[in-house]
Amino acid sequence: MHDIYDFKWQDLGDLSEGRPNLGTETSVLVYRLMQYTFKDVFSKELGKQKTVELFVRAGNLAGQEFCRNVLDTSLPFSEFIADLKQKLISLKVGVLMIEEADEKKLQFVLTVSEDLDCSGLPIFGESVCDYDEGFIAGILEEYTGKKFKAKEIDCWATGDRTCRFEVKVIESSNGPS
Ligand SMILES: [Zn+2]
Repeated sequence: MHDIYDFKWQDLGDLSEGRPNLGTETSVLVYRLMQYTFKDVFSKELGKQKTVELFVRAGNLAGQEFCRNVLDTSLPFSEFIADLKQKLISLKVGVLMIEEADEKKLQFVLTVSEDLDCSGLPIFGESVCDYDEGFIAGILEEYTGKKFKAKEIDCWATGDRTCRFEVKVIESSNGPS
């Protein structure tokens, strides 16, 4: 038994072999059931702040791996975003829109509608898309080789109809890790 687990894309398995009849899709209900029961158990064990931090980190790892394995990082920025947008729709994650983009400063405001994590949730009065924050930052980190922070400023769970993220670069690094 190993003390730590390192995620690898191959760990997602061969779905065509493993689910020849049920296929690659499941329901949003099942996805949310897992995410929000993780949140329940983690927050009781580690506190809410730490839990949010871990969700952001997991989302970040997912974003990096998603970018590496699903997206085409050789594309110029606008085509890269168009490809990302299309993949997020085909995987039914959400509908991505770029509201503001400063490519020089690497600062963006983007929205995700019909978001997998939160659209239709009751109003909690706080944003809940911590995993998405990490996911968005992770994608951009893998693409640019720089470190990003994404902050959700509107969310279905705060009473808005779309999730809105402020995204900015936080420091330079020496290329993708
Ligand atoms: Zn949200």
